[in-house]
Amino acid sequence: MGEQLIRGLGVSPGVACAPWLRFGSQLATSPLDPVGGSVDEELARVKAALGGVADEMQARAGRVSGVAAEILSMSATMARDPGIVAATEKQLADGMPTAHAVHLAFEGFCDKLEALGGYMAERATDLRDIGGRTVAVLLGEPMPGIPEPGYPFILVARDLAPADTAMLGDSDVVGLLTTEGGPTSHTAILAKSLGLPAVVNCPDTDRLVEDAPVLLDGSTGDVVIDPSPLRQKAAVEQAAADAARLAAASGPGHTADGTPVQLLVNIGTVDDAEKAGPVDSEGVGLFRTEFMYLGKATAPSLDEQIASYTTVLEQFAGRKVVVRTLDAGSDKPLPFLDLGTEENPALGVRGLRIGTVFPDTLATQLTALARAGEATGAELWVMAPMVATADEAAGFAALARESGLRKVGAMIEIPAAALRASDLLTHLDFVSIGTNDLSQYTCAVDRMAGGLAHLLDPWQPAVLDLIAMVGAAGAAAGKPVGVCGEAASDPTLAPVLVGLGVTSLSMSVPALPAVRAALSAVDIEKCRDAADVACAARNPQLAREAVAAIVGRA
Ligand code: PEP
Ligand code: MG
Repeated sequence: MGEQLIRGLGVSPGVACAPWLRFGSQLATSPLDPVGGSVDEELARVKAALGGVADEMQARAGRVSGVAAEILSMSATMARDPGIVAATEKQLADGMPTAHAVHLAFEGFCDKLEALGGYMAERATDLRDIGGRTVAVLLGEPMPGIPEPGYPFILVARDLAPADTAMLGDSDVVGLLTTEGGPTSHTAILAKSLGLPAVVNCPDTDRLVEDAPVLLDGSTGDVVIDPSPLRQKAAVEQAAADAARLAAASGPGHTADGTPVQLLVNIGTVDDAEKAGPVDSEGVGLFRTEFMYLGKATAPSLDEQIASYTTVLEQFAGRKVVVRTLDAGSDKPLPFLDLGTEENPALGVRGLRIGTVFPDTLATQLTALARAGEATGAELWVMAPMVATADEAAGFAALARESGLRKVGAMIEIPAAALRASDLLTHLDFVSIGTNDLSQYTCAVDRMAGGLAHLLDPWQPAVLDLIAMVGAAGAAAGKPVGVCGEAASDPTLAPVLVGLGVTSLSMSVPALPAVRAALSAVDIEKCRDAADVACAARNPQLAREAVAAIVGRA
């Protein structure tokens, strides 16, 4: 048959070449399956199956940490929801066979979640996964999920439920290939944090050839089906050369001519901080504090927050830590902040706007941060998410300074804030660009929408133009401009961002070496040239090609 090239979206860099296996698919159920015992007997079986699935999720949560553990705990909670049992009972009473009754009950809830869109629609994947597991238990069949062949393989799936991505770290998976999913999907973010090469949004995986290996490039999104021995050899050599090149660079980030570019890490929990502390970085560029409280029904107390922030700051003694105040709402709802129902939560009360509805929550957090800062003597910087106007920036800066915080900034993730960055900077010490939301709001695309991934691309010239405005405003004010969205982990984009005036880049830990190496290979003049050609290009593809022609492929 020979080699064939198919394409997807590269979301986690690196090259993997291995046999491929499909993710264990869900079992089909039918209303025509034989009906079991009485409604009560079958309901008891369903409750036992759901309890078993919940226990299994909880046990897996105990074996992993950080975001993965939180996702699994949330899945366990969903499996214990009495609403599922009630909906199944209704289906059983209507005469449905047991496994199909469970399937229908879960689908009913999934439909409702999908109708809500955004974050809620994403939860349907988790719920469907729990339903599939429960059905497998009831039918006595093997669990759907990640295969365990005992040799390294590339996992191919439609998309992965968070409960499954959470187990990737413990598996034989060396690369990921999915037909759906976007650059900010769970699959993409977890793959990146595990350093697993991943290509998502690749519609042609049905062309994969049984028993033939696959070569995927998580930077370019290229997938070669049945690669020739020559290409496989070249890929192995390339991977070894890349590893050697990455290992050669260490220490503070800089361009070839010595222009400093701080290289920082993104964290979301105390556990992340403990893992990232020993890593060769200049500190933390984004601490997503809301990640510690996802799924919590009660607000964290002042003391609880002081304790968490103190532990985090201690891990980075002598280094900078940029803490973001709670960015709740929209795709990250916090149960203890009840915002009611909004038609368009991504355009509603989220980020700093929460502070107007729950001022005490913001005040408590700022006080806790100031106390933790005093206790540790850390280089603590604090910034607000989703700031739209200079007045909001001024209001936040005043509150933070009254609380005793000294370095105060804002995220630039709304086009309005980028356009008026110099006004914002008159009140602030620094800004940090959140390219995930900036892309979402610039091109008016839901960041969870895999099918529209090309419009969420930070290489979109309009997004680059906005970053350029922020960079210029920072340079004019003599104040730092960071990037802490996923764009900061793209080694080819790094010189462009620096050329646009960005002074620090913050990313997941595994992304650091490639970005450090890419920067150390270009001088600042080349970075500026790369920025010019990227902004002059008509679309992301042309921008990438024009930049590669100047700086080479990272
Ligand atoms: C961003 O929007 O780029 C960002 C860093 O914030 P988050 O992904 O947490 O919304
Ligand atoms: Mg954001």
